[in-house]
Amino acid sequence: MTATISQTGFISKRAKQRLIDTLRQKGIQNEAVLGAIADSPRHDFVEEALKSRAYEDKALPIGYRQTISQPYVVALMTEQLLGKQSRLRAVLEIGTGSGFQTSVLSKLVDRVYTIERVGPLFRRARKYFSEQGIDNIFLRHADGTAGWPTRRPFDGVIVTAATPQIPQALFAQLSEGGTLVAPEGAEGKQKLSTWKKIGRQFQHQSFEDVTFVPLVTGVEH
Ligand code: SAH
Repeated sequence: MTATISQTGFISKRAKQRLIDTLRQKGIQNEAVLGAIADSPRHDFVEEALKSRAYEDKALPIGYRQTISQPYVVALMTEQLLGKQSRLRAVLEIGTGSGFQTSVLSKLVDRVYTIERVGPLFRRARKYFSEQGIDNIFLRHADGTAGWPTRRPFDGVIVTAATPQIPQALFAQLSEGGTLVAPEGAEGKQKLSTWKKIGRQFQHQSFEDVTFVPLVTGVEH
């Protein structure tokens, strides 16, 4: 029994190192981001049958018609969110899903606020973070399109579901100099976008084609 556990640990350590090498090859340069991903046990965020594939650079199903994002996309979005800063104070994430992106953020941000609309996903993530004793992640079961007004402002907002129109409330809750990162566009033609708030203006940049599940309004219990 013990041998099996340590063997699995050994295998995932090597698989994880390979994943970090892949992320570097694909252009991720921020060492803090790579470190946070190396510190995040992605196998904890996928179901039993997919654990052997947890360190592949692929999105995987997590049930409820949702997916855990591809590690490269998690790394890229986190890198964009941080910009030149090494640490952020408060980040709002829309779409907790498996909690993997949340976990990566929790290592780089003082407080992570995350909202999930699907009840069972919200409860599973909440249970996991509480069991792990992680105390800088705050979760909410709600429709994230309204943001989290009582916790504003956020120096980063990350949306992990795609929408042609980023909800106005999310821009309103961004602090001066803050960055919002989101997959923007209709189904089948989404691009990763960043919006940086400078005074009353927003600097918009669009790069990388991505495929995300859609941002949906309302909650599921
Ligand atoms: N970062 C997550 C991605 C999960 S997929 C991960 O890597 O696991 C996107 C998630 O966004 C899904 O769990 C979906 O239920 C959630 N979602 C979609 N629309 C939402 C909304 N309006 N409010 C909150 N969560 C939403």
